[in-house]
Amino acid sequence: MTDRYAVFGNPISHSKSPLIHSQFASQTGQDLSYGAVLAPLNGFRDTVLAFRTEGGRGINITVPFKFEAFQLATQLTARAHAAQAVNTLKFDGAEIIGDNTDGAGLVADIERNLDFILHGKRVLLMGAGGAAYGVALPLLNAGAIVTVANRTEDKAHQLASVFSAHGAIQGSSYTELTGSQFDCVINATSSSLADSLPPLPRGDCAKSHSSPDEPVTNGENTNNRGIFAPNALAYDMMYGKETPFLIFAREQGAAQLADGLGMLVEQAAESFFLWRNVRPDTAPVIAKLRLN
Ligand code: NDP
Repeated sequence: MTDRYAVFGNPISHSKSPLIHSQFASQTGQDLSYGAVLAPLNGFRDTVLAFRTEGGRGINITVPFKFEAFQLATQLTARAHAAQAVNTLKFDGAEIIGDNTDGAGLVADIERNLDFILHGKRVLLMGAGGAAYGVALPLLNAGAIVTVANRTEDKAHQLASVFSAHGAIQGSSYTELTGSQFDCVINATSSSLADSLPPLPRGDCAKSHSSPDEPVTNGENTNNRGIFAPNALAYDMMYGKETPFLIFAREQGAAQLADGLGMLVEQAAESFFLWRNVRPDTAPVIAKLRLN
């Protein structure tokens, strides 16, 4: 019998997960169906349990239910426990196993697809919401040196303290970033959804970074050099449009720009592996989504 999976969220009609998982299934020859379920805002738990009763084998969870999914799980993977949020549930007899594959997806996209090794790199992680919590531990496990900046500064310090036992991580306000440079800047805020930009310090000598033939002239005044180090990667978790952050990053001389489409496909592959014990090839799926 065909195994059933689905993504649960509210709203959900925009989700690309059914498309991604159906491509994984046909590529790997797995007999499964994958749908999209609009769960009522006050009915996530009941909707999930009904899906399980009807034979569902597992689900993905998107906004705004990742924390409720965390609470619904009877067992948690270490990364879900650290993230305090769950984007994947696997139904295994009476057990509900909760995982968080967002961070593994991000690191796979950055290191494998974008060929940017994180070990020893200075990473600025913007945001202290669910997405930032999900990726903090995998970034530290990859050896990144992480600064978290958030509009509500307390939350940045709180996030840093939660993960400080796992590696080099500190909290910061945006103002305090002035004069610092990063090899990788990740936008894990929801600012792009509102077409706005986190309040990053702006440098005035960015063009020198964009051309490898020109010397980097950071100048005497470190306040004016901008946040992007030479060869920096700017990564926005949002996908589907050129965001204010990526426009800013290009203007400020970031060497490489990336949106979150690769992360989306990689986190899906990680969920697929948890459910089916088969690892799909993500490259053709990313390429196909880019054409749409
Ligand atoms: P949350 O609502 O949990 O957190 C939002 C965060 O964004 C908070 O830290 C908030 O700061 C900050 N923020 C919101 N607006 C602004 C702004 N204008 N300037 C600066 N900071 C701002 O959202 P999530 O963490 O769940 O999601 C964040 C983003 O990541 C979304 O765009 C989501 O689509 C994307 N995402 C992409 C994935 C992918 O696979 N590509 C996977 C998961 C998420 P404050 O605390 O001050 O309110």
